[in-house]
Amino acid sequence: MNYCDLAPSYIRAIAPYQPGKPISELERELGITGIVKLASNENPLGASPAAVAAMQEAIKSIALYPDGNGFELKDSLVKRYGVPHANITLGNGSNDLLELAARAFLTPGDKVVYSAHAFAVYALATQAVGATGISVPAAAGFGHDLPAMQKAAKENKAKIVFVANPNNPTGTFLSADDLLAFMRGLPPEILVVLDEAYNEYLPEDKRYDSVSWLKEFPNLIISRTFSKAYGLAGLRVGYALAHEQVTDMMNRVRQPFNVNSVAQAAAVAALRDTSFVKKTFELNRRGMVQITDGLTRLGLEYIPSFGNFVAFRIGGATAMYRRLLELGVIVRPIANYDMPDWLRVSIGLESENAKFLSALEKAINQQLNGENK
Ligand SMILES: *Cc1c(COP(=O)(O)O)cnc(C)c1O
Repeated sequence: MNYCDLAPSYIRAIAPYQPGKPISELERELGITGIVKLASNENPLGASPAAVAAMQEAIKSIALYPDGNGFELKDSLVKRYGVPHANITLGNGSNDLLELAARAFLTPGDKVVYSAHAFAVYALATQAVGATGISVPAAAGFGHDLPAMQKAAKENKAKIVFVANPNNPTGTFLSADDLLAFMRGLPPEILVVLDEAYNEYLPEDKRYDSVSWLKEFPNLIISRTFSKAYGLAGLRVGYALAHEQVTDMMNRVRQPFNVNSVAQAAAVAALRDTSFVKKTFELNRRGMVQITDGLTRLGLEYIPSFGNFVAFRIGGATAMYRRLLELGVIVRPIANYDMPDWLRVSIGLESENAKFLSALEKAINQQLNGENK
């Protein structure tokens, strides 16, 4: 018998998430070291030293179950954002929160709206519960077309709309005014998950206070993560802010201990270390200029990005990806985002960005010289 047939058809239809290639895997394949990974939007500075110290302390109590309610971490978030405990859900990464929203509210046949080229997990979380995803074509420049998404959500009586700001892998940004107009035009029974995984990377003049919108919009779910600017991707911790009834439902479907004790301790310390986040932000800003200047010099088109990564267009993207691997640089192909001619590179340290640019130049020359790949 075929055991796949035991799974519902909507599970069999899922195309698995394609993560960035781990450094250790490429090391094994090529037998080389000194590999630069700019494939998963990780923090090139690592984690805050304060978070690392908190983790070492937390390990002493590793035999004990974590606080299933995450009291201390929620308390830190209460202090930071001024929202009560009852409005906070903690997640095993913000990926968990996207799934909790789907599991709590969707049933097979429900409709979910998201943008073309939007973060892949929206479709995965939707499919895993048998709901139907509606991918709305992007606006010019690969951004979310909010008016079209609003229309699609209303016409299809969608239950959830996923909005990424900035979006990954395109790096596109939606202004506070556009988001507010979008929210105001939606009926309150349509939930909006506003995924702000890269919020900390927004330039000062683009920042907005989405948390204050929760008062006006009981249907708004804001998700944030410690994986990106806080440098804790390996720990898996994120949080969602939403109306207490929405929060209540999300909490009913989560695992009782979904965020481990080391992650909780690290997140508390990381939240406090604002100077680390600032340093990360500054490094990213310089690196973004370095990489986009380099892409321009090489004559490549890119999508202006508000995150810690940038997508660029390159002929023979798949072959280029492989050439870059052989030169010791891991970037991310995004053909699965309907962008087969594009690659996405994360912003690294200055030396990593330089290695990427020189490898890219070399790979382009190899291609021009007709060297096979
Ligand atoms: C990386 C990312 C996330 C989630 O990352 P976690 O590590 O699960 O917190 C969520 N949304 C977007 C758009 C991302 O790029």
